[in-house]
Amino acid sequence: MSKTMRTNRLREELMSKNLLLIPGPVAVAESVLSAMAKPMVDHRGPAFRAVLERCTSRLKPIFGTTSDVVILGGAGTNGLESAVSSLFSAGDKILACPIGVFGQRLAAIAKTWGLDVELLETPWGQALDPARLAARLQADAKFEIKGILLTHNETSTGCQNDMAALARAIGNHPASVVVDSVSGLAASRFAMDEWQFDVVVTASQKALAVPPGLAMVAVSKRAWERMALAKGPAFALDLRKAREFADLGQTPWTPPVSVGFALDVALEQYEAEGAEQVWRRHDRTAVAIRAAAKALGLEVYSSEAAHSPTVVAMKVPEGIEAAAVQRTLREQYGVVISGGQKELKGKIFRIGTMGDVLQAEMLGALAIFGLALNQHGHRADPAAGVRAALASFAEDTQPALA
Ligand SMILES: *Cc1c(COP(=O)(O)O)cnc(C)c1O
Repeated sequence: MSKTMRTNRLREELMSKNLLLIPGPVAVAESVLSAMAKPMVDHRGPAFRAVLERCTSRLKPIFGTTSDVVILGGAGTNGLESAVSSLFSAGDKILACPIGVFGQRLAAIAKTWGLDVELLETPWGQALDPARLAARLQADAKFEIKGILLTHNETSTGCQNDMAALARAIGNHPASVVVDSVSGLAASRFAMDEWQFDVVVTASQKALAVPPGLAMVAVSKRAWERMALAKGPAFALDLRKAREFADLGQTPWTPPVSVGFALDVALEQYEAEGAEQVWRRHDRTAVAIRAAAKALGLEVYSSEAAHSPTVVAMKVPEGIEAAAVQRTLREQYGVVISGGQKELKGKIFRIGTMGDVLQAEMLGALAIFGLALNQHGHRADPAAGVRAALASFAEDTQPALA
């Protein structure tokens, strides 16, 4: 092997220790990662049944439901498609309420399954206005709308909807409510039963801080009844089939068993840390990152009432090439952040708060972020961001870690 090849390999190995600050997949704790090194078990045997049962019972309070939670192998998108395809029939009128890229994707799934999709659009950077949703539903006097598609936390814009307010806006309208909470669930209070949502979807690689591979879908009693009557075709993502097998402590198809082991440990630790502490941890990190952005002269993209606790989006300053800044961060410093998606490409940076990241690591990353911006021509004190974030963390006197 040549010297250059060896050096490159060494460099790659060194760089494999990245500070991963994207909004999923996120940094996973050693204790959770090492659970994945356990030997394989029979996915239809007692050991894995116990894993699924423990996970399901710990997930219910996180969703805020006493109804069922089914665990599916696959990405969050699989969970969303399972919800849409199992619950609705072709031709059903659906009101999709996207506030960004992921909301559009949910609407696209519904269109793909032949549903009659109406969009209630919101300018990006804002949350869905509950009054507009209420007005649209009040105009639906004959209850023609059979489904409402909502995003809890819109990862592409760093916005979070006020789900309690949206639940009030829906009121007694009988439409089934499907919620994408892939990047929201577990990072703030969620009350599925209280808010009368029908299907809520999340995934392992976001706030639960587990590697990717599992989707988790909570289903209300009313949704099961409606699914029994739905006429859509479904096979691998059929939630009814998933429920049948969940009752036996199994999944219909072979799941990523090792990710199941990881989820089991992560949920045990979630419970030990305490939900409220986890919510606070995400929130204070988001507050600190927003403070850093402002101090660096970067405008926070989300509007004041819509800030997400799991991802902060900030505008790329005029004349700065976002991709170049990200490349410097990654290649020179091992810090990985996200840019914008679709029409926001090159326009925003996104930094996630989810995952196993210490305050010290976040502060270091924000210092480096200031430095990289500076290297690429941004005229602001590179240390202003980290100073503001430090002050923000310091204002909070409670211990940072459980
Ligand atoms: C990450 C994410 C998804 C998609 O998850 P995949 O696992 O990539 O399919 C869907 N919705 C939101 C809001 C997300 O953040």
